[in-house]
Amino acid sequence: MDKFDVIIIGAGPGGYVAAIRAAQLGLDTALVEKDPSLGGTCLNVGCIPSKALLESSELFYASRHGFEAHGIEPASVKLNLPTMMARKEGIVKELTDGVGILMKKNKVKVFRGRGVLKGEGLVTVVDDDGGKQALEAKSVILAMGSVPVELPFLKFDGDRVVSSTEALAFKEVPQHLVVVGAGAIGLEMGSVWNRLGAKVTVVELLPRVAPFADGQMSTLLERTLKAQGMVFRLNAKVTAANVLPDGVALTVQNGKGENEAIACDRVLVSVGRRPCTGTAGLQEAGVALDEKGFIKVDDGFATSVPNVYAIGDLIRGPMLAHKASEEGVALAETLAGKPGHVDYETIPNVVYTNPELACVGLTEEQCKEQGLPFKVGKYYFKANGRAKSLGETDGMVKVIAHAETDRILGTHIVGPRASEMIHELVVAMEFHASAEDIARTCHAHPTLSEVIHEAALAVDKRAIHG
Ligand SMILES: Cc1cc2nc3c(=O)[nH]c(=O)nc-3n(C[C@H](O)[C@H](O)[C@H](O)COP(=O)(O)OP(=O)(O)OC[C@H]3O[C@@H](n4cnc5c(N)ncnc54)[C@H](O)[C@@H]3O)c2cc1C
Repeated sequence: MDKFDVIIIGAGPGGYVAAIRAAQLGLDTALVEKDPSLGGTCLNVGCIPSKALLESSELFYASRHGFEAHGIEPASVKLNLPTMMARKEGIVKELTDGVGILMKKNKVKVFRGRGVLKGEGLVTVVDDDGGKQALEAKSVILAMGSVPVELPFLKFDGDRVVSSTEALAFKEVPQHLVVVGAGAIGLEMGSVWNRLGAKVTVVELLPRVAPFADGQMSTLLERTLKAQGMVFRLNAKVTAANVLPDGVALTVQNGKGENEAIACDRVLVSVGRRPCTGTAGLQEAGVALDEKGFIKVDDGFATSVPNVYAIGDLIRGPMLAHKASEEGVALAETLAGKPGHVDYETIPNVVYTNPELACVGLTEEQCKEQGLPFKVGKYYFKANGRAKSLGETDGMVKVIAHAETDRILGTHIVGPRASEMIHELVVAMEFHASAEDIARTCHAHPTLSEVIHEAALAVDKRAIHG
């Protein structure tokens, strides 16, 4: 039996990053992955392929809707979907191969097959032919990630009714795509196909898009996506579906109980993801789950089975790649005798639409719920020189600070490059900065980041250009 310090089951951004950090710290590490390529949901069918398609579709859309204002008149722009998909697949392959190279470089031993927990410190790897290999370690990290949630009356068939995995690889642009669920994945995939020419209708049970975001930012994002042609049915639910050979007939009920018939050729169900707890023998091994089906862990990621830990999408908290990686690093450091830690207050969250939505910390609604006295500074991209030069003036930055201490409680951006800009605030919040700290920090001109500067100044009603 092969023996290790730590065995990790699942090679997503939680598992493979934990493996690298554990190996860096001198732990003899094994990584078990059931899929042919490493990198998990994120690299194979999540963050990376979706961003590749978002970028390509954005260029296509801009060539039709944005170039002329710059004085560029493209003679004829044609969509070559196979090439767009091949580019996406190329990026995925480079990155997933790169994870393999990193494993070799860090001397992490990779086992291909399904990892099954057999008790404290014991894992069996079952390969595709049923061959078994027993492994033993002082610690086991579960990092099996998540899978899409299916609706009982709208089951995935891989063709008409699909999850994000298939929506990342449609062979042709749908005529009418209905997206069920207006979270990050639904809005991003809806944006891709809308930009490529599909009619896109988004049906969302809650009264707003990106329900996790600050209310004002959700409204702002919805307004700009509507202007791009996306149709929203908020406060609405799909109550019936009839899958036909050439399309799907849906019944959508609004908040007043009125029914609407919607015919479409494809439905993307993006109502959330659930932890992947069915693949690794957890029940037999006695790993306890919480009431929502996530693996129950303590503050140090320990499960109910001694020396077995869990991270990433398998446990509570936002289902985000960088959250999984941070947990992987923190846990590896703890197992190596160092003080590993994740600051859950400063995990940024991004929706890669155009404009992007990016946030960190508390929303106005959460401040109110928690009874925190707060003040708000806002500033709009339309007043910013760089945004005007880019021709991307939709959106705003909102900085929320404690009314008495001025400490930044949260920041919310809808705007160009929001995914990159948010990190100024993530760092500021890590260092417990005040709005005044940002206000007193010199920002280069002309940059989009000046909008953050002005919003921080606006917290004390002293924005210079507003
Ligand atoms: C379309 C889409 C877009 C997304 N975009 C973003 C984004 O922009 N930013 C972001 O932060 N997050 C994004 N996410 C979410 C992100 O992908 C996940 O939060 C992240 O991948 C979770 O990492 P993880 O390591 O916990 O699990 P995963 O990445 O799901 O990896 C788990 C791995 O475990 C393997 N596995 C499962 N069971 C076993 C077993 N028994 N034995 C061996 N291996 C097993 C799986 O095959 C998989 O490789 C997106 C997700 C989707 C679907």
